[in-house]
Amino acid sequence: MNEKEFQIYRERAEGFLERLKNEFFYETVDLQAEVFHSVDPVPWAKRLEGSYVPAAEGDCWGGLWESAWFHITGKVPEAWAGEPVWFKLELGGEILIFDDGGVPFCGLTNTSVFAANYRKNLLEFTPKARGGETVDFYAEVGGNGLLGDEITPGTDWRCEVGDIRHLKMGRFNVEAWNLANDFEVLLSLLRTLPEKSYRAVQLNMALNEAVSAYADDPANAAAARSCVAPQLAMRATDSALSTAAVGHAHIDTGWLWPVRETIRKCARTFSSQLYNLERYPDYVFGASQPQLYAFVKEHYPELYAKIREAVKSGRWELQGGMWVEADCNIISGESMVRQFLAGKNFYMDEFGMDVRNLWLPDVFGYSAAMPQIIRKAGCDWFLTQKISWSQFNKFPYHTFHWRGIDGTEVLTHFPPEDNYNSALKPEQLNYAVNNFNENYFLPEFITLFGVGDGGGGPRPEHIEHGLRTADLEGCPRVRFDRADAFFARLAEHAGELPEWAGELYLELHRGTLTTQARTKRNNRKCEQMLAQTEFICSVLLAADYPAETLDRLWKVLLINQFHDIIPGSSIRKVYEVTEAEHAMILAECENLVRSAAAKLTAPDGDALTVVNTLSYDYTGAVALPEEWASRRITDGAGRELLTQAGENGVWVLGEFPPQSVTTLYRGEAVEAFPPEADNSLVLENDLVRYEFDADARLVAAFDKTTGRDVVAGAAANLLALYVDQPNKWDAWDVDFTYVDTPPAYAKGVKAFRSESGPVRQALTFELTVGRSAIRQQVVLTENSKRLDFNTEVDWKERHRMLRVAFPTTVRAEEAYCDIQYGFVRRTTARNTSWDFARFEVAAHRYVDISDACGGAALLNDSKYGYRLDAGTLDLNLLRSPTYPDSEADQGTHFFTYSFLPHAGGLCGSEVMQEAACLNRAPAVLPGKGTFALPCRVAGGEGVSLEVVKKAEKSDALVIRVVETDGRRSTAVLDFARGTKLVETNLLEWTEEGELPIVDGSVELTLRPFEIRTFLVR
Ligand SMILES: [Zn+2]
Repeated sequence: MNEKEFQIYRERAEGFLERLKNEFFYETVDLQAEVFHSVDPVPWAKRLEGSYVPAAEGDCWGGLWESAWFHITGKVPEAWAGEPVWFKLELGGEILIFDDGGVPFCGLTNTSVFAANYRKNLLEFTPKARGGETVDFYAEVGGNGLLGDEITPGTDWRCEVGDIRHLKMGRFNVEAWNLANDFEVLLSLLRTLPEKSYRAVQLNMALNEAVSAYADDPANAAAARSCVAPQLAMRATDSALSTAAVGHAHIDTGWLWPVRETIRKCARTFSSQLYNLERYPDYVFGASQPQLYAFVKEHYPELYAKIREAVKSGRWELQGGMWVEADCNIISGESMVRQFLAGKNFYMDEFGMDVRNLWLPDVFGYSAAMPQIIRKAGCDWFLTQKISWSQFNKFPYHTFHWRGIDGTEVLTHFPPEDNYNSALKPEQLNYAVNNFNENYFLPEFITLFGVGDGGGGPRPEHIEHGLRTADLEGCPRVRFDRADAFFARLAEHAGELPEWAGELYLELHRGTLTTQARTKRNNRKCEQMLAQTEFICSVLLAADYPAETLDRLWKVLLINQFHDIIPGSSIRKVYEVTEAEHAMILAECENLVRSAAAKLTAPDGDALTVVNTLSYDYTGAVALPEEWASRRITDGAGRELLTQAGENGVWVLGEFPPQSVTTLYRGEAVEAFPPEADNSLVLENDLVRYEFDADARLVAAFDKTTGRDVVAGAAANLLALYVDQPNKWDAWDVDFTYVDTPPAYAKGVKAFRSESGPVRQALTFELTVGRSAIRQQVVLTENSKRLDFNTEVDWKERHRMLRVAFPTTVRAEEAYCDIQYGFVRRTTARNTSWDFARFEVAAHRYVDISDACGGAALLNDSKYGYRLDAGTLDLNLLRSPTYPDSEADQGTHFFTYSFLPHAGGLCGSEVMQEAACLNRAPAVLPGKGTFALPCRVAGGEGVSLEVVKKAEKSDALVIRVVETDGRRSTAVLDFARGTKLVETNLLEWTEEGELPIVDGSVELTLRPFEIRTFLVR
């Protein structure tokens, strides 16, 4: 057969398949419907409270995000007795069909403009009609596409919601549907074969024989199938790889739709998968994110009961240790721990199961701190595929031991299909076979199949593909399986696997370190506030500890750390909720601290109690209320503290030791410090001298302890506005080309000395850049080198990015970047394509570069995206993408970044201390403090006491300590109560040895970056 003939035959078979798809469902009759339209979803129990109006095909019932109940009725024609009868429903949104008892039965979804082949509109009514029976059921419709508000950037091409396109009942030709599935698999196989190969020719001819046998008459479907049956019966070769095919539905917890819609997406997806489990006895489905199960438990208890049964049967797998599939660049070390703590405890409490995999197929990069946290949270295995999206470099492995900053390793597997939405077709499966890096020694890989992102999961067609590829020549052997079973088999090869040390950096989506700055800032504030609140509340007796409230607040924070929410890639509707929820967390924490204070302090109008929960001396200025201005202020020992009137109160400079409680007393009135007449743009104390120009540029930064000007020859605090037009993925990406267009620099409008006095001095700059205004108050405190840039931006840009650069004289090949419970070293060079790709990296509270003479750090209170280029530290402050949130980041922003020159290297310097202090000011409680915190770091260095809280399952106190310097460190901890420490894991499930508390103290030694958790008994 020549090439032309081959091609024409193949095209004939392909054309046939497309026609065939319109022939299963035939001889249709209209269904009758009446509809109750509402703005917000109405639960099943209240569906009869609305007023229903008749609706028919061609009508439109409502718009985007609105909701409707359909009451659908009909009568099966007598002539259809004995025949399969199906429905075809396209009701202008996502449909959830309920059974007569109000339990979700199955989800359907109309077309998606992003993924047209994800449409699911057919549903079996009965495999064998009696003829004449009535149809009567309710369906709920959400006014959105599979992927929410499917507006395509730059167009008005939007998924049409509300339009009733199909409302039909008809006969169903099961054999024609089966024939289509045969063709899907065999045509896909044909496309993977060399065109002139014997197998390809034979297969092509068999398909064409089937087309001829069908003879344009659906009644011949069975005859056509018999033509291709021998091709489907050819067995996989002896050398075929195997794949564990796990039914999967990636449900983004919030993205192009609000979290509210995710609740219904869960009901649609999960009921559809129970439907599949019932019909396919070998099929296995898995779902991650305990939060989604919690939604179903609350909103659909009967559905939840059915899921519990399926889980018990082993055919529904609970996956993923985290509460949601969280971002792993931005969230703090403790947030990461709490993702596991909440997630795995939910699975254990609800299902009695310990889930041992971490399931994050779609997260935008993975911190090098994770292996230790994963393993100490009782997970042995990690799955993702996202790194396959990297722009420049192909990751060398699919299966490997991933080693973190502390040396802990976790067995990691990337599905080699580079995808979590497989359709189990031979083209996809064979791509995976050939792409699988370890295919030379491992016998199998994992495949995640089903419709995902907007939920859905496998359709019956996907399962049918899997049945046909189970043992088919030219394909890997496909076996429906659980991920944990796959990983357990993989673990048998642990000794043969390669290793990868350090972070799994995604060479894409770098803008997600910055976009939606308010959400990132509030997340940081909530992380700090929750830790401080737990610490203070842990002084209370167990009965008074607000465990339930704190649990609820943490879970609200955790859901907003989902991998499209905190990265900034969701729609406005998502952030409206997130911003309100973050505000709620902060307000409730304040309430908890206030009510704890009422129990812990003695009323005294002239006393205030300062509680420092950090493991460092708090040496910065502390803000006290207005009534404390112009009064003598002393501490408990009678020492007078330096004070200075501030804008809304008074600054006091004290030294508050680690985990200390200090009462301050207000004495007689004193004369206010006269304002200084000096109007130079210089800030100076005994440690440093900083000089500015009128554009707020730092032109000299002389460190008196090292004798070096850290910015000599260049100006720092360069506020630069770049054009920020990524090629695609607007909210997600910063392209490396942004530097090619020279930026506009901020210009000074006004500069003046705004504060002077014994505690702190400040310059204020008013600047403009682009269409935006910037106000910076630059503050230097008396006893510190830290220079704070308290910044307010009235941000009015579109597709612009505001950055600040600090070129320094420090020569360092590597920078130290703060990450979750540790730091990671990153190159400042661009030697390799791997270095080049990392032109924007994630860091938390600080980035530091040091050389033999000292160094410089750039700290922040809410930012994450840094550029490290030779001696320049450059921080991404604000972006302004317009998709998917057209209003992203518009309006007023507040943030602080700080410049800190220092002597010595990172660990000998005050960088970590200052970064901690910048992010967590002490709590100031009313009255006289009559208590001590239950635990404190009393000596040693390199060990931070990060968490003190009540245990999850008992009244014991839990403490978490972390080695911060990347070396072996020893510290002494003092305890106000308890006789011994019992070591446990991050979940507080294990007991791993005891340490006695002797005379109220314990000495602890930690490995580099080690995280240890103890129960205090
Ligand atoms: Zn996702």
